[in-house]
Amino acid sequence: MSMNRVQFQPGLSMAQFLERYGTEAACEQALQQARWPEGFVCPVCGGRRASCFPHRGRPMWQCSACHHQSSLRAGTVFDNTKLPLSTWLLALYLLSQHKTNLSALALMRYLGVCYRTAWRLKHKLMQAMSEQEAGRRLGGLVQLDDAYLGGECPGGKPGRGSPNKRPF
Ligand SMILES: [Zn+2]
Repeated sequence: MSMNRVQFQPGLSMAQFLERYGTEAACEQALQQARWPEGFVCPVCGGRRASCFPHRGRPMWQCSACHHQSSLRAGTVFDNTKLPLSTWLLALYLLSQHKTNLSALALMRYLGVCYRTAWRLKHKLMQAMSEQEAGRRLGGLVQLDDAYLGGECPGGKPGRGSPNKRPF
């Protein structure tokens, strides 16, 4: 049996994900490394020197040059929420791993949050992913598939000819 290289490509298993990002501290460390790989950079003046202090249980940085205070989440998609970073990263993992999309309802059950939170979280992450990909252009031979969206329509035509279905 031939194996599809795309479908069988190596990825991050749930066990590996939880091992790497299963705690709040690990997630903060990962975000800090991704955001400031060479150490703190002030978002206002670009200064590299800062003092770090705790604020409401989370670390804050104060730029030594311009005294601007910044948190790890400020200016990121994770800003202005009370949700733990570990919840955000788990949502990111789940949304990126499901080949056939993950509903907000399913995300709600996986994360143990309310539906409204799951819905907003999903849409914020999808918006961020869309903005990240917006500048990318496909090259070479591009192949597309079509699909039909719509439910059952008793008595109507089946398949693609159904008046209840819309192609996209
Ligand atoms: Zn500064």
